[in-house]
Amino acid sequence: MLPSFADSVLQLIIRTSTDLPPDVRAAMKTALGSEPTGTRSSQALTIIAQNIDLAVDTEGAICQDTGMPTFEIKVPVGANQIWMRQQIREAVAEATRRGKLRPNSVDSITGSNSGDNLGPGTPIIHFDQWDEDEIEIKLILKGGGCENTNAQYSVPVELPHLGRADRTLDGVRKCILHAVWQAQGKGCSPGAVGVSVGGDRTSGYLHAKEQLFRSLDDVNPDPRLAALEASIMASVNKLEIGAMGFGGKVTLIGCKIGALNRLPASFFVSVAYDCWAFRRLGVHLDSSSGAITKWLYRDPAHPIIPMLDQAGFTRTGREVTLKAPLTDGQVRSLKVGDVVLLSGPMFTGRDAVHSYLMTHESPVDLRGSVLYHCGPVVVKEEVVKAGTSGSGWRVTAAGPTTSIREEPYQGEIIKRYGVRAVIGKGGMGANTLAAMKEHGAVYLNAIGGAAQFYARAIKQVDGVSLLEFGTPEAMWHLTVEGFPAIVTMDAHGNSLHQDIERESGRHLEAIGV
Ligand code: SF4
Repeated sequence: MLPSFADSVLQLIIRTSTDLPPDVRAAMKTALGSEPTGTRSSQALTIIAQNIDLAVDTEGAICQDTGMPTFEIKVPVGANQIWMRQQIREAVAEATRRGKLRPNSVDSITGSNSGDNLGPGTPIIHFDQWDEDEIEIKLILKGGGCENTNAQYSVPVELPHLGRADRTLDGVRKCILHAVWQAQGKGCSPGAVGVSVGGDRTSGYLHAKEQLFRSLDDVNPDPRLAALEASIMASVNKLEIGAMGFGGKVTLIGCKIGALNRLPASFFVSVAYDCWAFRRLGVHLDSSSGAITKWLYRDPAHPIIPMLDQAGFTRTGREVTLKAPLTDGQVRSLKVGDVVLLSGPMFTGRDAVHSYLMTHESPVDLRGSVLYHCGPVVVKEEVVKAGTSGSGWRVTAAGPTTSIREEPYQGEIIKRYGVRAVIGKGGMGANTLAAMKEHGAVYLNAIGGAAQFYARAIKQVDGVSLLEFGTPEAMWHLTVEGFPAIVTMDAHGNSLHQDIERESGRHLEAIGV
């Protein structure tokens, strides 16, 4: 067998999770340079850039959501795919043990987390044969927040702000613009889209995801699709959705389009949205040893250029410093656009915790609390204190998750438990906004994907409840210090998300014609 195969796959996983490829870095650096200093988007991109640098320096996960590991593999004729599949599964489990991947494989019936990223359908491994002697493995880690913003259109279709999209390339253009507009900041913009024209519902989505393996700076070999990609990139940033949906000049960093034949009756446009944490890499392996002979997307001879040449997120002195638990007065004094620096206790809670709190008592007193929509990467380690030793928890990655999933629960939870601040990303809806106004609470938008940056604001793990839901879904009791976030929904009925959606809808109308 190939003695180095498993280790090569492990290296590929770790590098993919911790070190963004050069084409994505270059695009993000351009994005950062495009936003005027001091704007919300500029602040968000500065934190993202700092996070990218921190991740590679410490070999930590760029984002706590390490996504669905998806491997695309090409092997010489005669290669043993059964053995390779097993080796890849073991490498995935090992990367999870080392905290480079978050346990992300959840039983869809029971909700239990396998803990090692293995289970029916996870990881995704596709094999293909080719005429080369080497083995090629490409890997993409695409998280849930951006996966949830994927879209598929059955054309012709009537689209808000754009009118009818026909079975033409102009109709495809409208579908892509609509998908980007609809994503707003929920998929951690600025993002990139892979698009498939045609196929059927399943092959279309797969083909769209495959487009994300193209380099951001390549040119489509089909001149018609190259022209469409260029046209999208020339107009899409006029939507002014900006980083995290805060409003700004850069909304998309790439658009890659492919086409498949279709049935005469069907015309699907499938859009796979990937976030700024666009983690995909690849390797070539020697087919007799399994050792890495070449890295794809990166030249190892080139040093990694830091994203930032200055200090990163620096305080201006205008931030509002708050210490939890919070009072009604503190919360009502905040308004949309304020930057806050939070200290004190904070509790994590996402899908399972929200559902639980609707029918059970909270395991902790949540009055005046800060509830963080976050599924962190947490590792257990030995702690030596005052001559005694035991085990403790350490958070290694802890950015926000997409908040809108909790919309059916959030208003009731604010009312029932007296939560004063909810932190997440992408914003929430009308029910939550109304509950915040009535009961005195705010929504704070943290910077999606900035997992390393926020992990450093967590000073200790004080405890954990509901661990039976798995580490991402448990309720972690944290102490934070100087945790920065932006008020995007206040206790007076104002929502930056609603404003940006309305404004960008107007821009969509203008560029859609
Ligand atoms: S950057 Fe945002 S969308 Fe991307 S994986 Fe992380 S949390 Fe999800």
